[in-house]
Amino acid sequence: MEKAVNRQMNEELFSEYLYLSMSAYFESQNLKGFAHWMRKQADEEREHAMKFYNYLFDRDGAAVLDALKKPQAKWSSPLAAFEAAYKHEQYITDCINKLHDLAMADNDKATMALLKWFIDEQVEEEATAKEIVDKLKMIGKSTNGLMMLDQALAKRGE
Ligand code: MG
Repeated sequence: MEKAVNRQMNEELFSEYLYLSMSAYFESQNLKGFAHWMRKQADEEREHAMKFYNYLFDRDGAAVLDALKKPQAKWSSPLAAFEAAYKHEQYITDCINKLHDLAMADNDKATMALLKWFIDEQVEEEATAKEIVDKLKMIGKSTNGLMMLDQALAKRGE
């Protein structure tokens, strides 16, 4: 179980890395609002990783940091980047569900309780990413639409 929780902590750290890379891509495109949104998303992923990190020590285990793979650095469009983010969140949901299965098989109630928070969070994460994917599809090739969405995403507080 400890090993599996560590694996998930490292997945969350990779998520932070991936979204920071997406933020850098948006900066390079001068889409400051998108870049801001992704930076906040990266911060949130660090918080997710730290939840597992703290939990491991609370349970008298240890957090072990792994090497992070190199994230993709460029996407063909804002839509392609957000489609990749959505796909990544679906992958993370799958990881969390599998981890919950493992905790259940182990009758590890504390880990199940922690994962309940993550299961709810993933519903939110997928819905948010999907909403932006859908908006980008509606926008299509409209520069005005893209600018408006950039302004909206700049307002993300946390
Ligand atoms: Mg996460």
